Amino acid sequence: MSWLEKLLPPKITPTDPTERRSVPEGLWIKCPSCEAVLYKTDLEKNQNVCPQCSHHHRIGARARLDAFLDPEGRYELGQEVIPVDPLKFKDSRKYPERLKDALETTGETDALIVMGGAVHSIGVVAACFEFDFMGGSMGSVVGERFVRGVHTAIEQKVPFICFTATGGARMQEGLLSLMQMAKTNASLTRLAKKACLTSVC
Ligand SMILES: [Zn+2]
Repeated sequence: MSWLEKLLPPKITPTDPTERRSVPEGLWIKCPSCEAVLYKTDLEKNQNVCPQCSHHHRIGARARLDAFLDPEGRYELGQEVIPVDPLKFKDSRKYPERLKDALETTGETDALIVMGGAVHSIGVVAACFEFDFMGGSMGSVVGERFVRGVHTAIEQKVPFICFTATGGARMQEGLLSLMQMAKTNASLTRLAKKACLTSVC
């Protein structure tokens, strides 16, 4: 026992430096526009708009839908559709590894969230891209969820709203990814035809 340990009262034990709590990262955010240092919770309470200069910070898909839709009567569409790796694609890393990382970063299973609900009690179906999930890229799952959202909007005769934040097609799914352009477009044409038939003007 060293002389210092002998001096310390028995109940006081030195803390292990590895156990010291550090200040959690990301608690403070610097506004890129006015450079004000903002407390993250305050920023989130203000829907990620800087209280000093009204700069709009990037917002995640789920937070976006949460701010947009009425709290009552929400339901998610297509969340059971999850990505697969049909091409066994590998660039600098394997596609499943990238998917796993994106899941850990965002908590989402793919880059589009679709929800039915209401805005000021008016029924809608809303979709929102999660850019932090592989750049909001569109693969088979994004296409399928989008189309399911459009079909639900047609069935329920409600508007379909999409918040777009995407880098484009997901190269890891190759042609299957490009095919989603035709698939989503066809569903939107169907929606537009129905909307014309039901429109008042
Ligand atoms: Zn600001």
